[in-house]
Amino acid sequence: MKIALLIPVYNEEEALPLFYDTLQKFSFPQKERIELHYLFVNDGSQDKTFSLLKKIAQENPLVHVISFSRNFGKEAAITAGLTAAQNYDAVIIMDVDLQDPPSLIPTFIQKWQEGFEMVYAVRTTRASDPWLKRITANYFYKFYNLLADRPMPPHAGDCRLLSRVVIKSLLQLPERERFMKGLFNWVGFKSTSVPSVRQPRQAGNTKWNYWQLWKFSLQGITAGSTLLLRLWTYVGIIIAIIAVLFACWVALKKIIYGNPVNGYASIMVTILFCSGIQLISLGIIGEYLSRIFMEAKQRPLYLIEEKINL
Ligand code: UDP
Ligand code: MG
Repeated sequence: MKIALLIPVYNEEEALPLFYDTLQKFSFPQKERIELHYLFVNDGSQDKTFSLLKKIAQENPLVHVISFSRNFGKEAAITAGLTAAQNYDAVIIMDVDLQDPPSLIPTFIQKWQEGFEMVYAVRTTRASDPWLKRITANYFYKFYNLLADRPMPPHAGDCRLLSRVVIKSLLQLPERERFMKGLFNWVGFKSTSVPSVRQPRQAGNTKWNYWQLWKFSLQGITAGSTLLLRLWTYVGIIIAIIAVLFACWVALKKIIYGNPVNGYASIMVTILFCSGIQLISLGIIGEYLSRIFMEAKQRPLYLIEEKINL
């Protein structure tokens, strides 16, 4: 049986050697029966990552490398890896920073051999994350699941095993806005979770700041649900009903009390409230529209500059 570890790497010269050594030394019960390949996707690193990968790949024919022409993002890197891994029996996606412990590998394989097509790690604690990330991640999953057509398991990352049928299914999804967690969830198949304690990053730095995480969340939510887009019909109806009631009240007041000129405050509040609502709804339409625009361009998801041992 052939299994590929799919590892996206971006500027990971510090974490990469540590990761490779740890995994080379890591032994697990099924190791004899399994041919474990490494499939690194170099996502346009500007440091020594690629030369390190080249060196490792020269020494070990089980190491395969795809190198992008620039940074295209982790989602594109995972997609490229899955495209290259269609002949494997299964793929395990892992980060290079050892935040997902290698001890997950035997557990994943065991569950897979029990018949699960997808096995994913769920973080039981996020103690290794900063408090702000913990809170925002919590709210993200709550909000996503509130809106999404298919709720996803909270705190399940990209770290997971995918069987061949799942890989093939994922590759059938043609969209360019690839929020992988949403897509993993969308394809279905018999899946199970494995609890995992996320470790602190072993070397190097996280590649995400909060602005990127915010954009990533928007990407996920707009890809997973159209509810935010459709919501405005109902907000509009409610505001229209309130407006009619208010108009009746104003008319009645005029008939009863005549027309004393005041009402500045109520007019201002109404104008500001309604224009705020309109701008929010326009903004959300913009979010979806920009994504339709990107999809419509039909550009490739990534460009490969070099392949090694592939
Ligand atoms: N990564 C990538 N391209 C990017 C950003 C990250 O391939 O544009 C890789 C990175 O090298 C690592 C994995 O994705 O192997 C997870 O990144 P990171 O550890 O920074 O994310 P975090 O664990 O902080 O969410
Ligand atoms: Mg990490």
